[in-house]
Amino acid sequence: MPRYEGPENKIFEFSGETTPFEIFKEWNIKGAIAAKIGGRAADLHSKITGGGVLEPITPETSEGLDLIRHSTSHLMAQAITRLYPGAKFGVGPSIQDGFYYDVLFPKAITDDDLPVIEAEMKKLAGEKFRIERVEMTSPEALEKFADDQFKVELINDIGAPTVSLYGQGEFWDLCRGPHVPNTGYLKHFRLMSLAGAYWRGNEKNVMLTRIYGTAFADAESLAGYLNMMEEAKRRDHRKLGRELDLFSFQPEGPGFPFFHPKGMVIMNTLVDFWRKEHTKRGYSEIKTPLILDRELWQRSGHWDHYRENMYFTEIDERPYAIKPMNCPGGILVYKTSRKSYRELPLRMAELGIVHRHERSGVLHGLMRVRCFTQDDAHIYCTSDQIGAELKKVIDLDKYVYDVFGFQFSVELSTRPENSMGDPELWTLAEQKLQEILEETRTPYRINPGDGAFYGPKIDFHLRDSIGRTWQCGTVQLDFQLPEKFDMTYIGNDGAEHRPVMLHRTILGSLERFMGILVEHYAGAFPYWIAPVQARIIQVNPEHEDYALKIEDILKNMGVRVERDSRDEKLGKKIRDAQLEKVPYMLVVGAKEVESNSVSVRTRTGGDIGSRGIEELTAMLESEFKPEAMRQ
Ligand SMILES: [Zn+2]
Ligand SMILES: [Zn+2]
Repeated sequence: MPRYEGPENKIFEFSGETTPFEIFKEWNIKGAIAAKIGGRAADLHSKITGGGVLEPITPETSEGLDLIRHSTSHLMAQAITRLYPGAKFGVGPSIQDGFYYDVLFPKAITDDDLPVIEAEMKKLAGEKFRIERVEMTSPEALEKFADDQFKVELINDIGAPTVSLYGQGEFWDLCRGPHVPNTGYLKHFRLMSLAGAYWRGNEKNVMLTRIYGTAFADAESLAGYLNMMEEAKRRDHRKLGRELDLFSFQPEGPGFPFFHPKGMVIMNTLVDFWRKEHTKRGYSEIKTPLILDRELWQRSGHWDHYRENMYFTEIDERPYAIKPMNCPGGILVYKTSRKSYRELPLRMAELGIVHRHERSGVLHGLMRVRCFTQDDAHIYCTSDQIGAELKKVIDLDKYVYDVFGFQFSVELSTRPENSMGDPELWTLAEQKLQEILEETRTPYRINPGDGAFYGPKIDFHLRDSIGRTWQCGTVQLDFQLPEKFDMTYIGNDGAEHRPVMLHRTILGSLERFMGILVEHYAGAFPYWIAPVQARIIQVNPEHEDYALKIEDILKNMGVRVERDSRDEKLGKKIRDAQLEKVPYMLVVGAKEVESNSVSVRTRTGGDIGSRGIEELTAMLESEFKPEAMRQ
């Protein structure tokens, strides 16, 4: 007699056929929206016969949430079919944070249509249409979808004798499934935005309308997400970057950021901090050319594995490439002299400007650009030194992220499909990384198949002040490039050995990191990063000499100070400084001149009273410095 085994050693024996729904009822398991049979997801009401391991899928799990989101995309398609007869459908998957569906509308729609579609979805959800699976032969399916050229193309591409369709009410869609049992399970959703999307991502194809939406298991989660999105919009670094005059983009260079003076102050502050910290930790710094012979990139493997992301040029009829990574240049520096084991580990950092092609549709402010500065470093060491070096890198990561107030999580990415080199070395490298993560008690998650083509890697995902995560730092273990470039060092046995190479970044891209900081702090940078740390506000021109004296004192102690001498009302000057999120406003009027003081306002606490000059300088001196975080 076939039997299913469930959680907590539950057993269900039967003959003929049954459904996960029946079994869960028998097992008294509540809240399932679908099932997993032998690890494969299936509909709750699917007919099952074979037996095996059976588990419920519930809305709280990431799998359950995906299922709800994907099912909501079908619900949206059904609503669109009712509202816009003749609409045709591409694909409608669940994605991180929600779902989308690509639609060819009979007439263009705008953002104003989204609430209308959403209202129709609510109505359809209320009707609790059963969502049922039907298998049919491909010719039958082609007939059913005869007037939707996209589905026809998909069925022909699948090329299987049979395909599965899902129906809810009058609406049918081509889909592998599974889905929630009926539309009544879909309650907490919101349509978010519209975008253009070429059919199958190909610019030669027709442009469809992509509608993005989100869905959650419960009302609180949806509300929390919508709040976060609202907050994210308020903090959008593209908007704040413009308002705070930090950077811009010009039509002459799509994806190539222009940094303005205030943006450069932030950038240079990051670089100063970074450089100091690296010097302390035994790194040296190099700089290698942006343009190098194409042959170098063929040798490094970039030509085979990374070509479509690279830009090329020609000099004296010789082919060159613009570097997308700093490693090959760094290796050439390593090879300029014979290395001894005494010089290892050798830590060479480079703030390297790299160019990587991104499609114009995915460019996004500083977060996704075509040119950026990597805070790169390559560590060359013996295989005995790998563990200690990895630990040092992880320690540096933890320290730096802490300075900015980021929590982080770690992912270990393993061998990808297009990997280079011996699979055994890969396994060894993966084990080494895992070992160090465990030794340093760093919690991590494994990300199968997401390693770099030359080695496995550890990625650091930072959690910002509104709960979003950003991948920034990475450490990659590489046995391949030293081999390809025949790198050696002389061991204490006098013979030549192969060094191991670690690639690592902490901030990732300086440009992107700055974008992340703008959103993390909502433009109110901490004192040590703020482009303007203090602004002297003189009440009227007769206080100018005194204001100049204060400015001089502060400038001499290295404070980034500005003076507002405009002929404006005091209230307006204070408001402007607040809008620009200047940490300290130092108001100077008759009373202050007389008592040799300034009246201090902070951007958060308002008026904090008057301070004598020495009190003021001591107060600014005591502001947070990143060095203070070191134990
Ligand atoms: Zn589906
Ligand atoms: Zn590298």
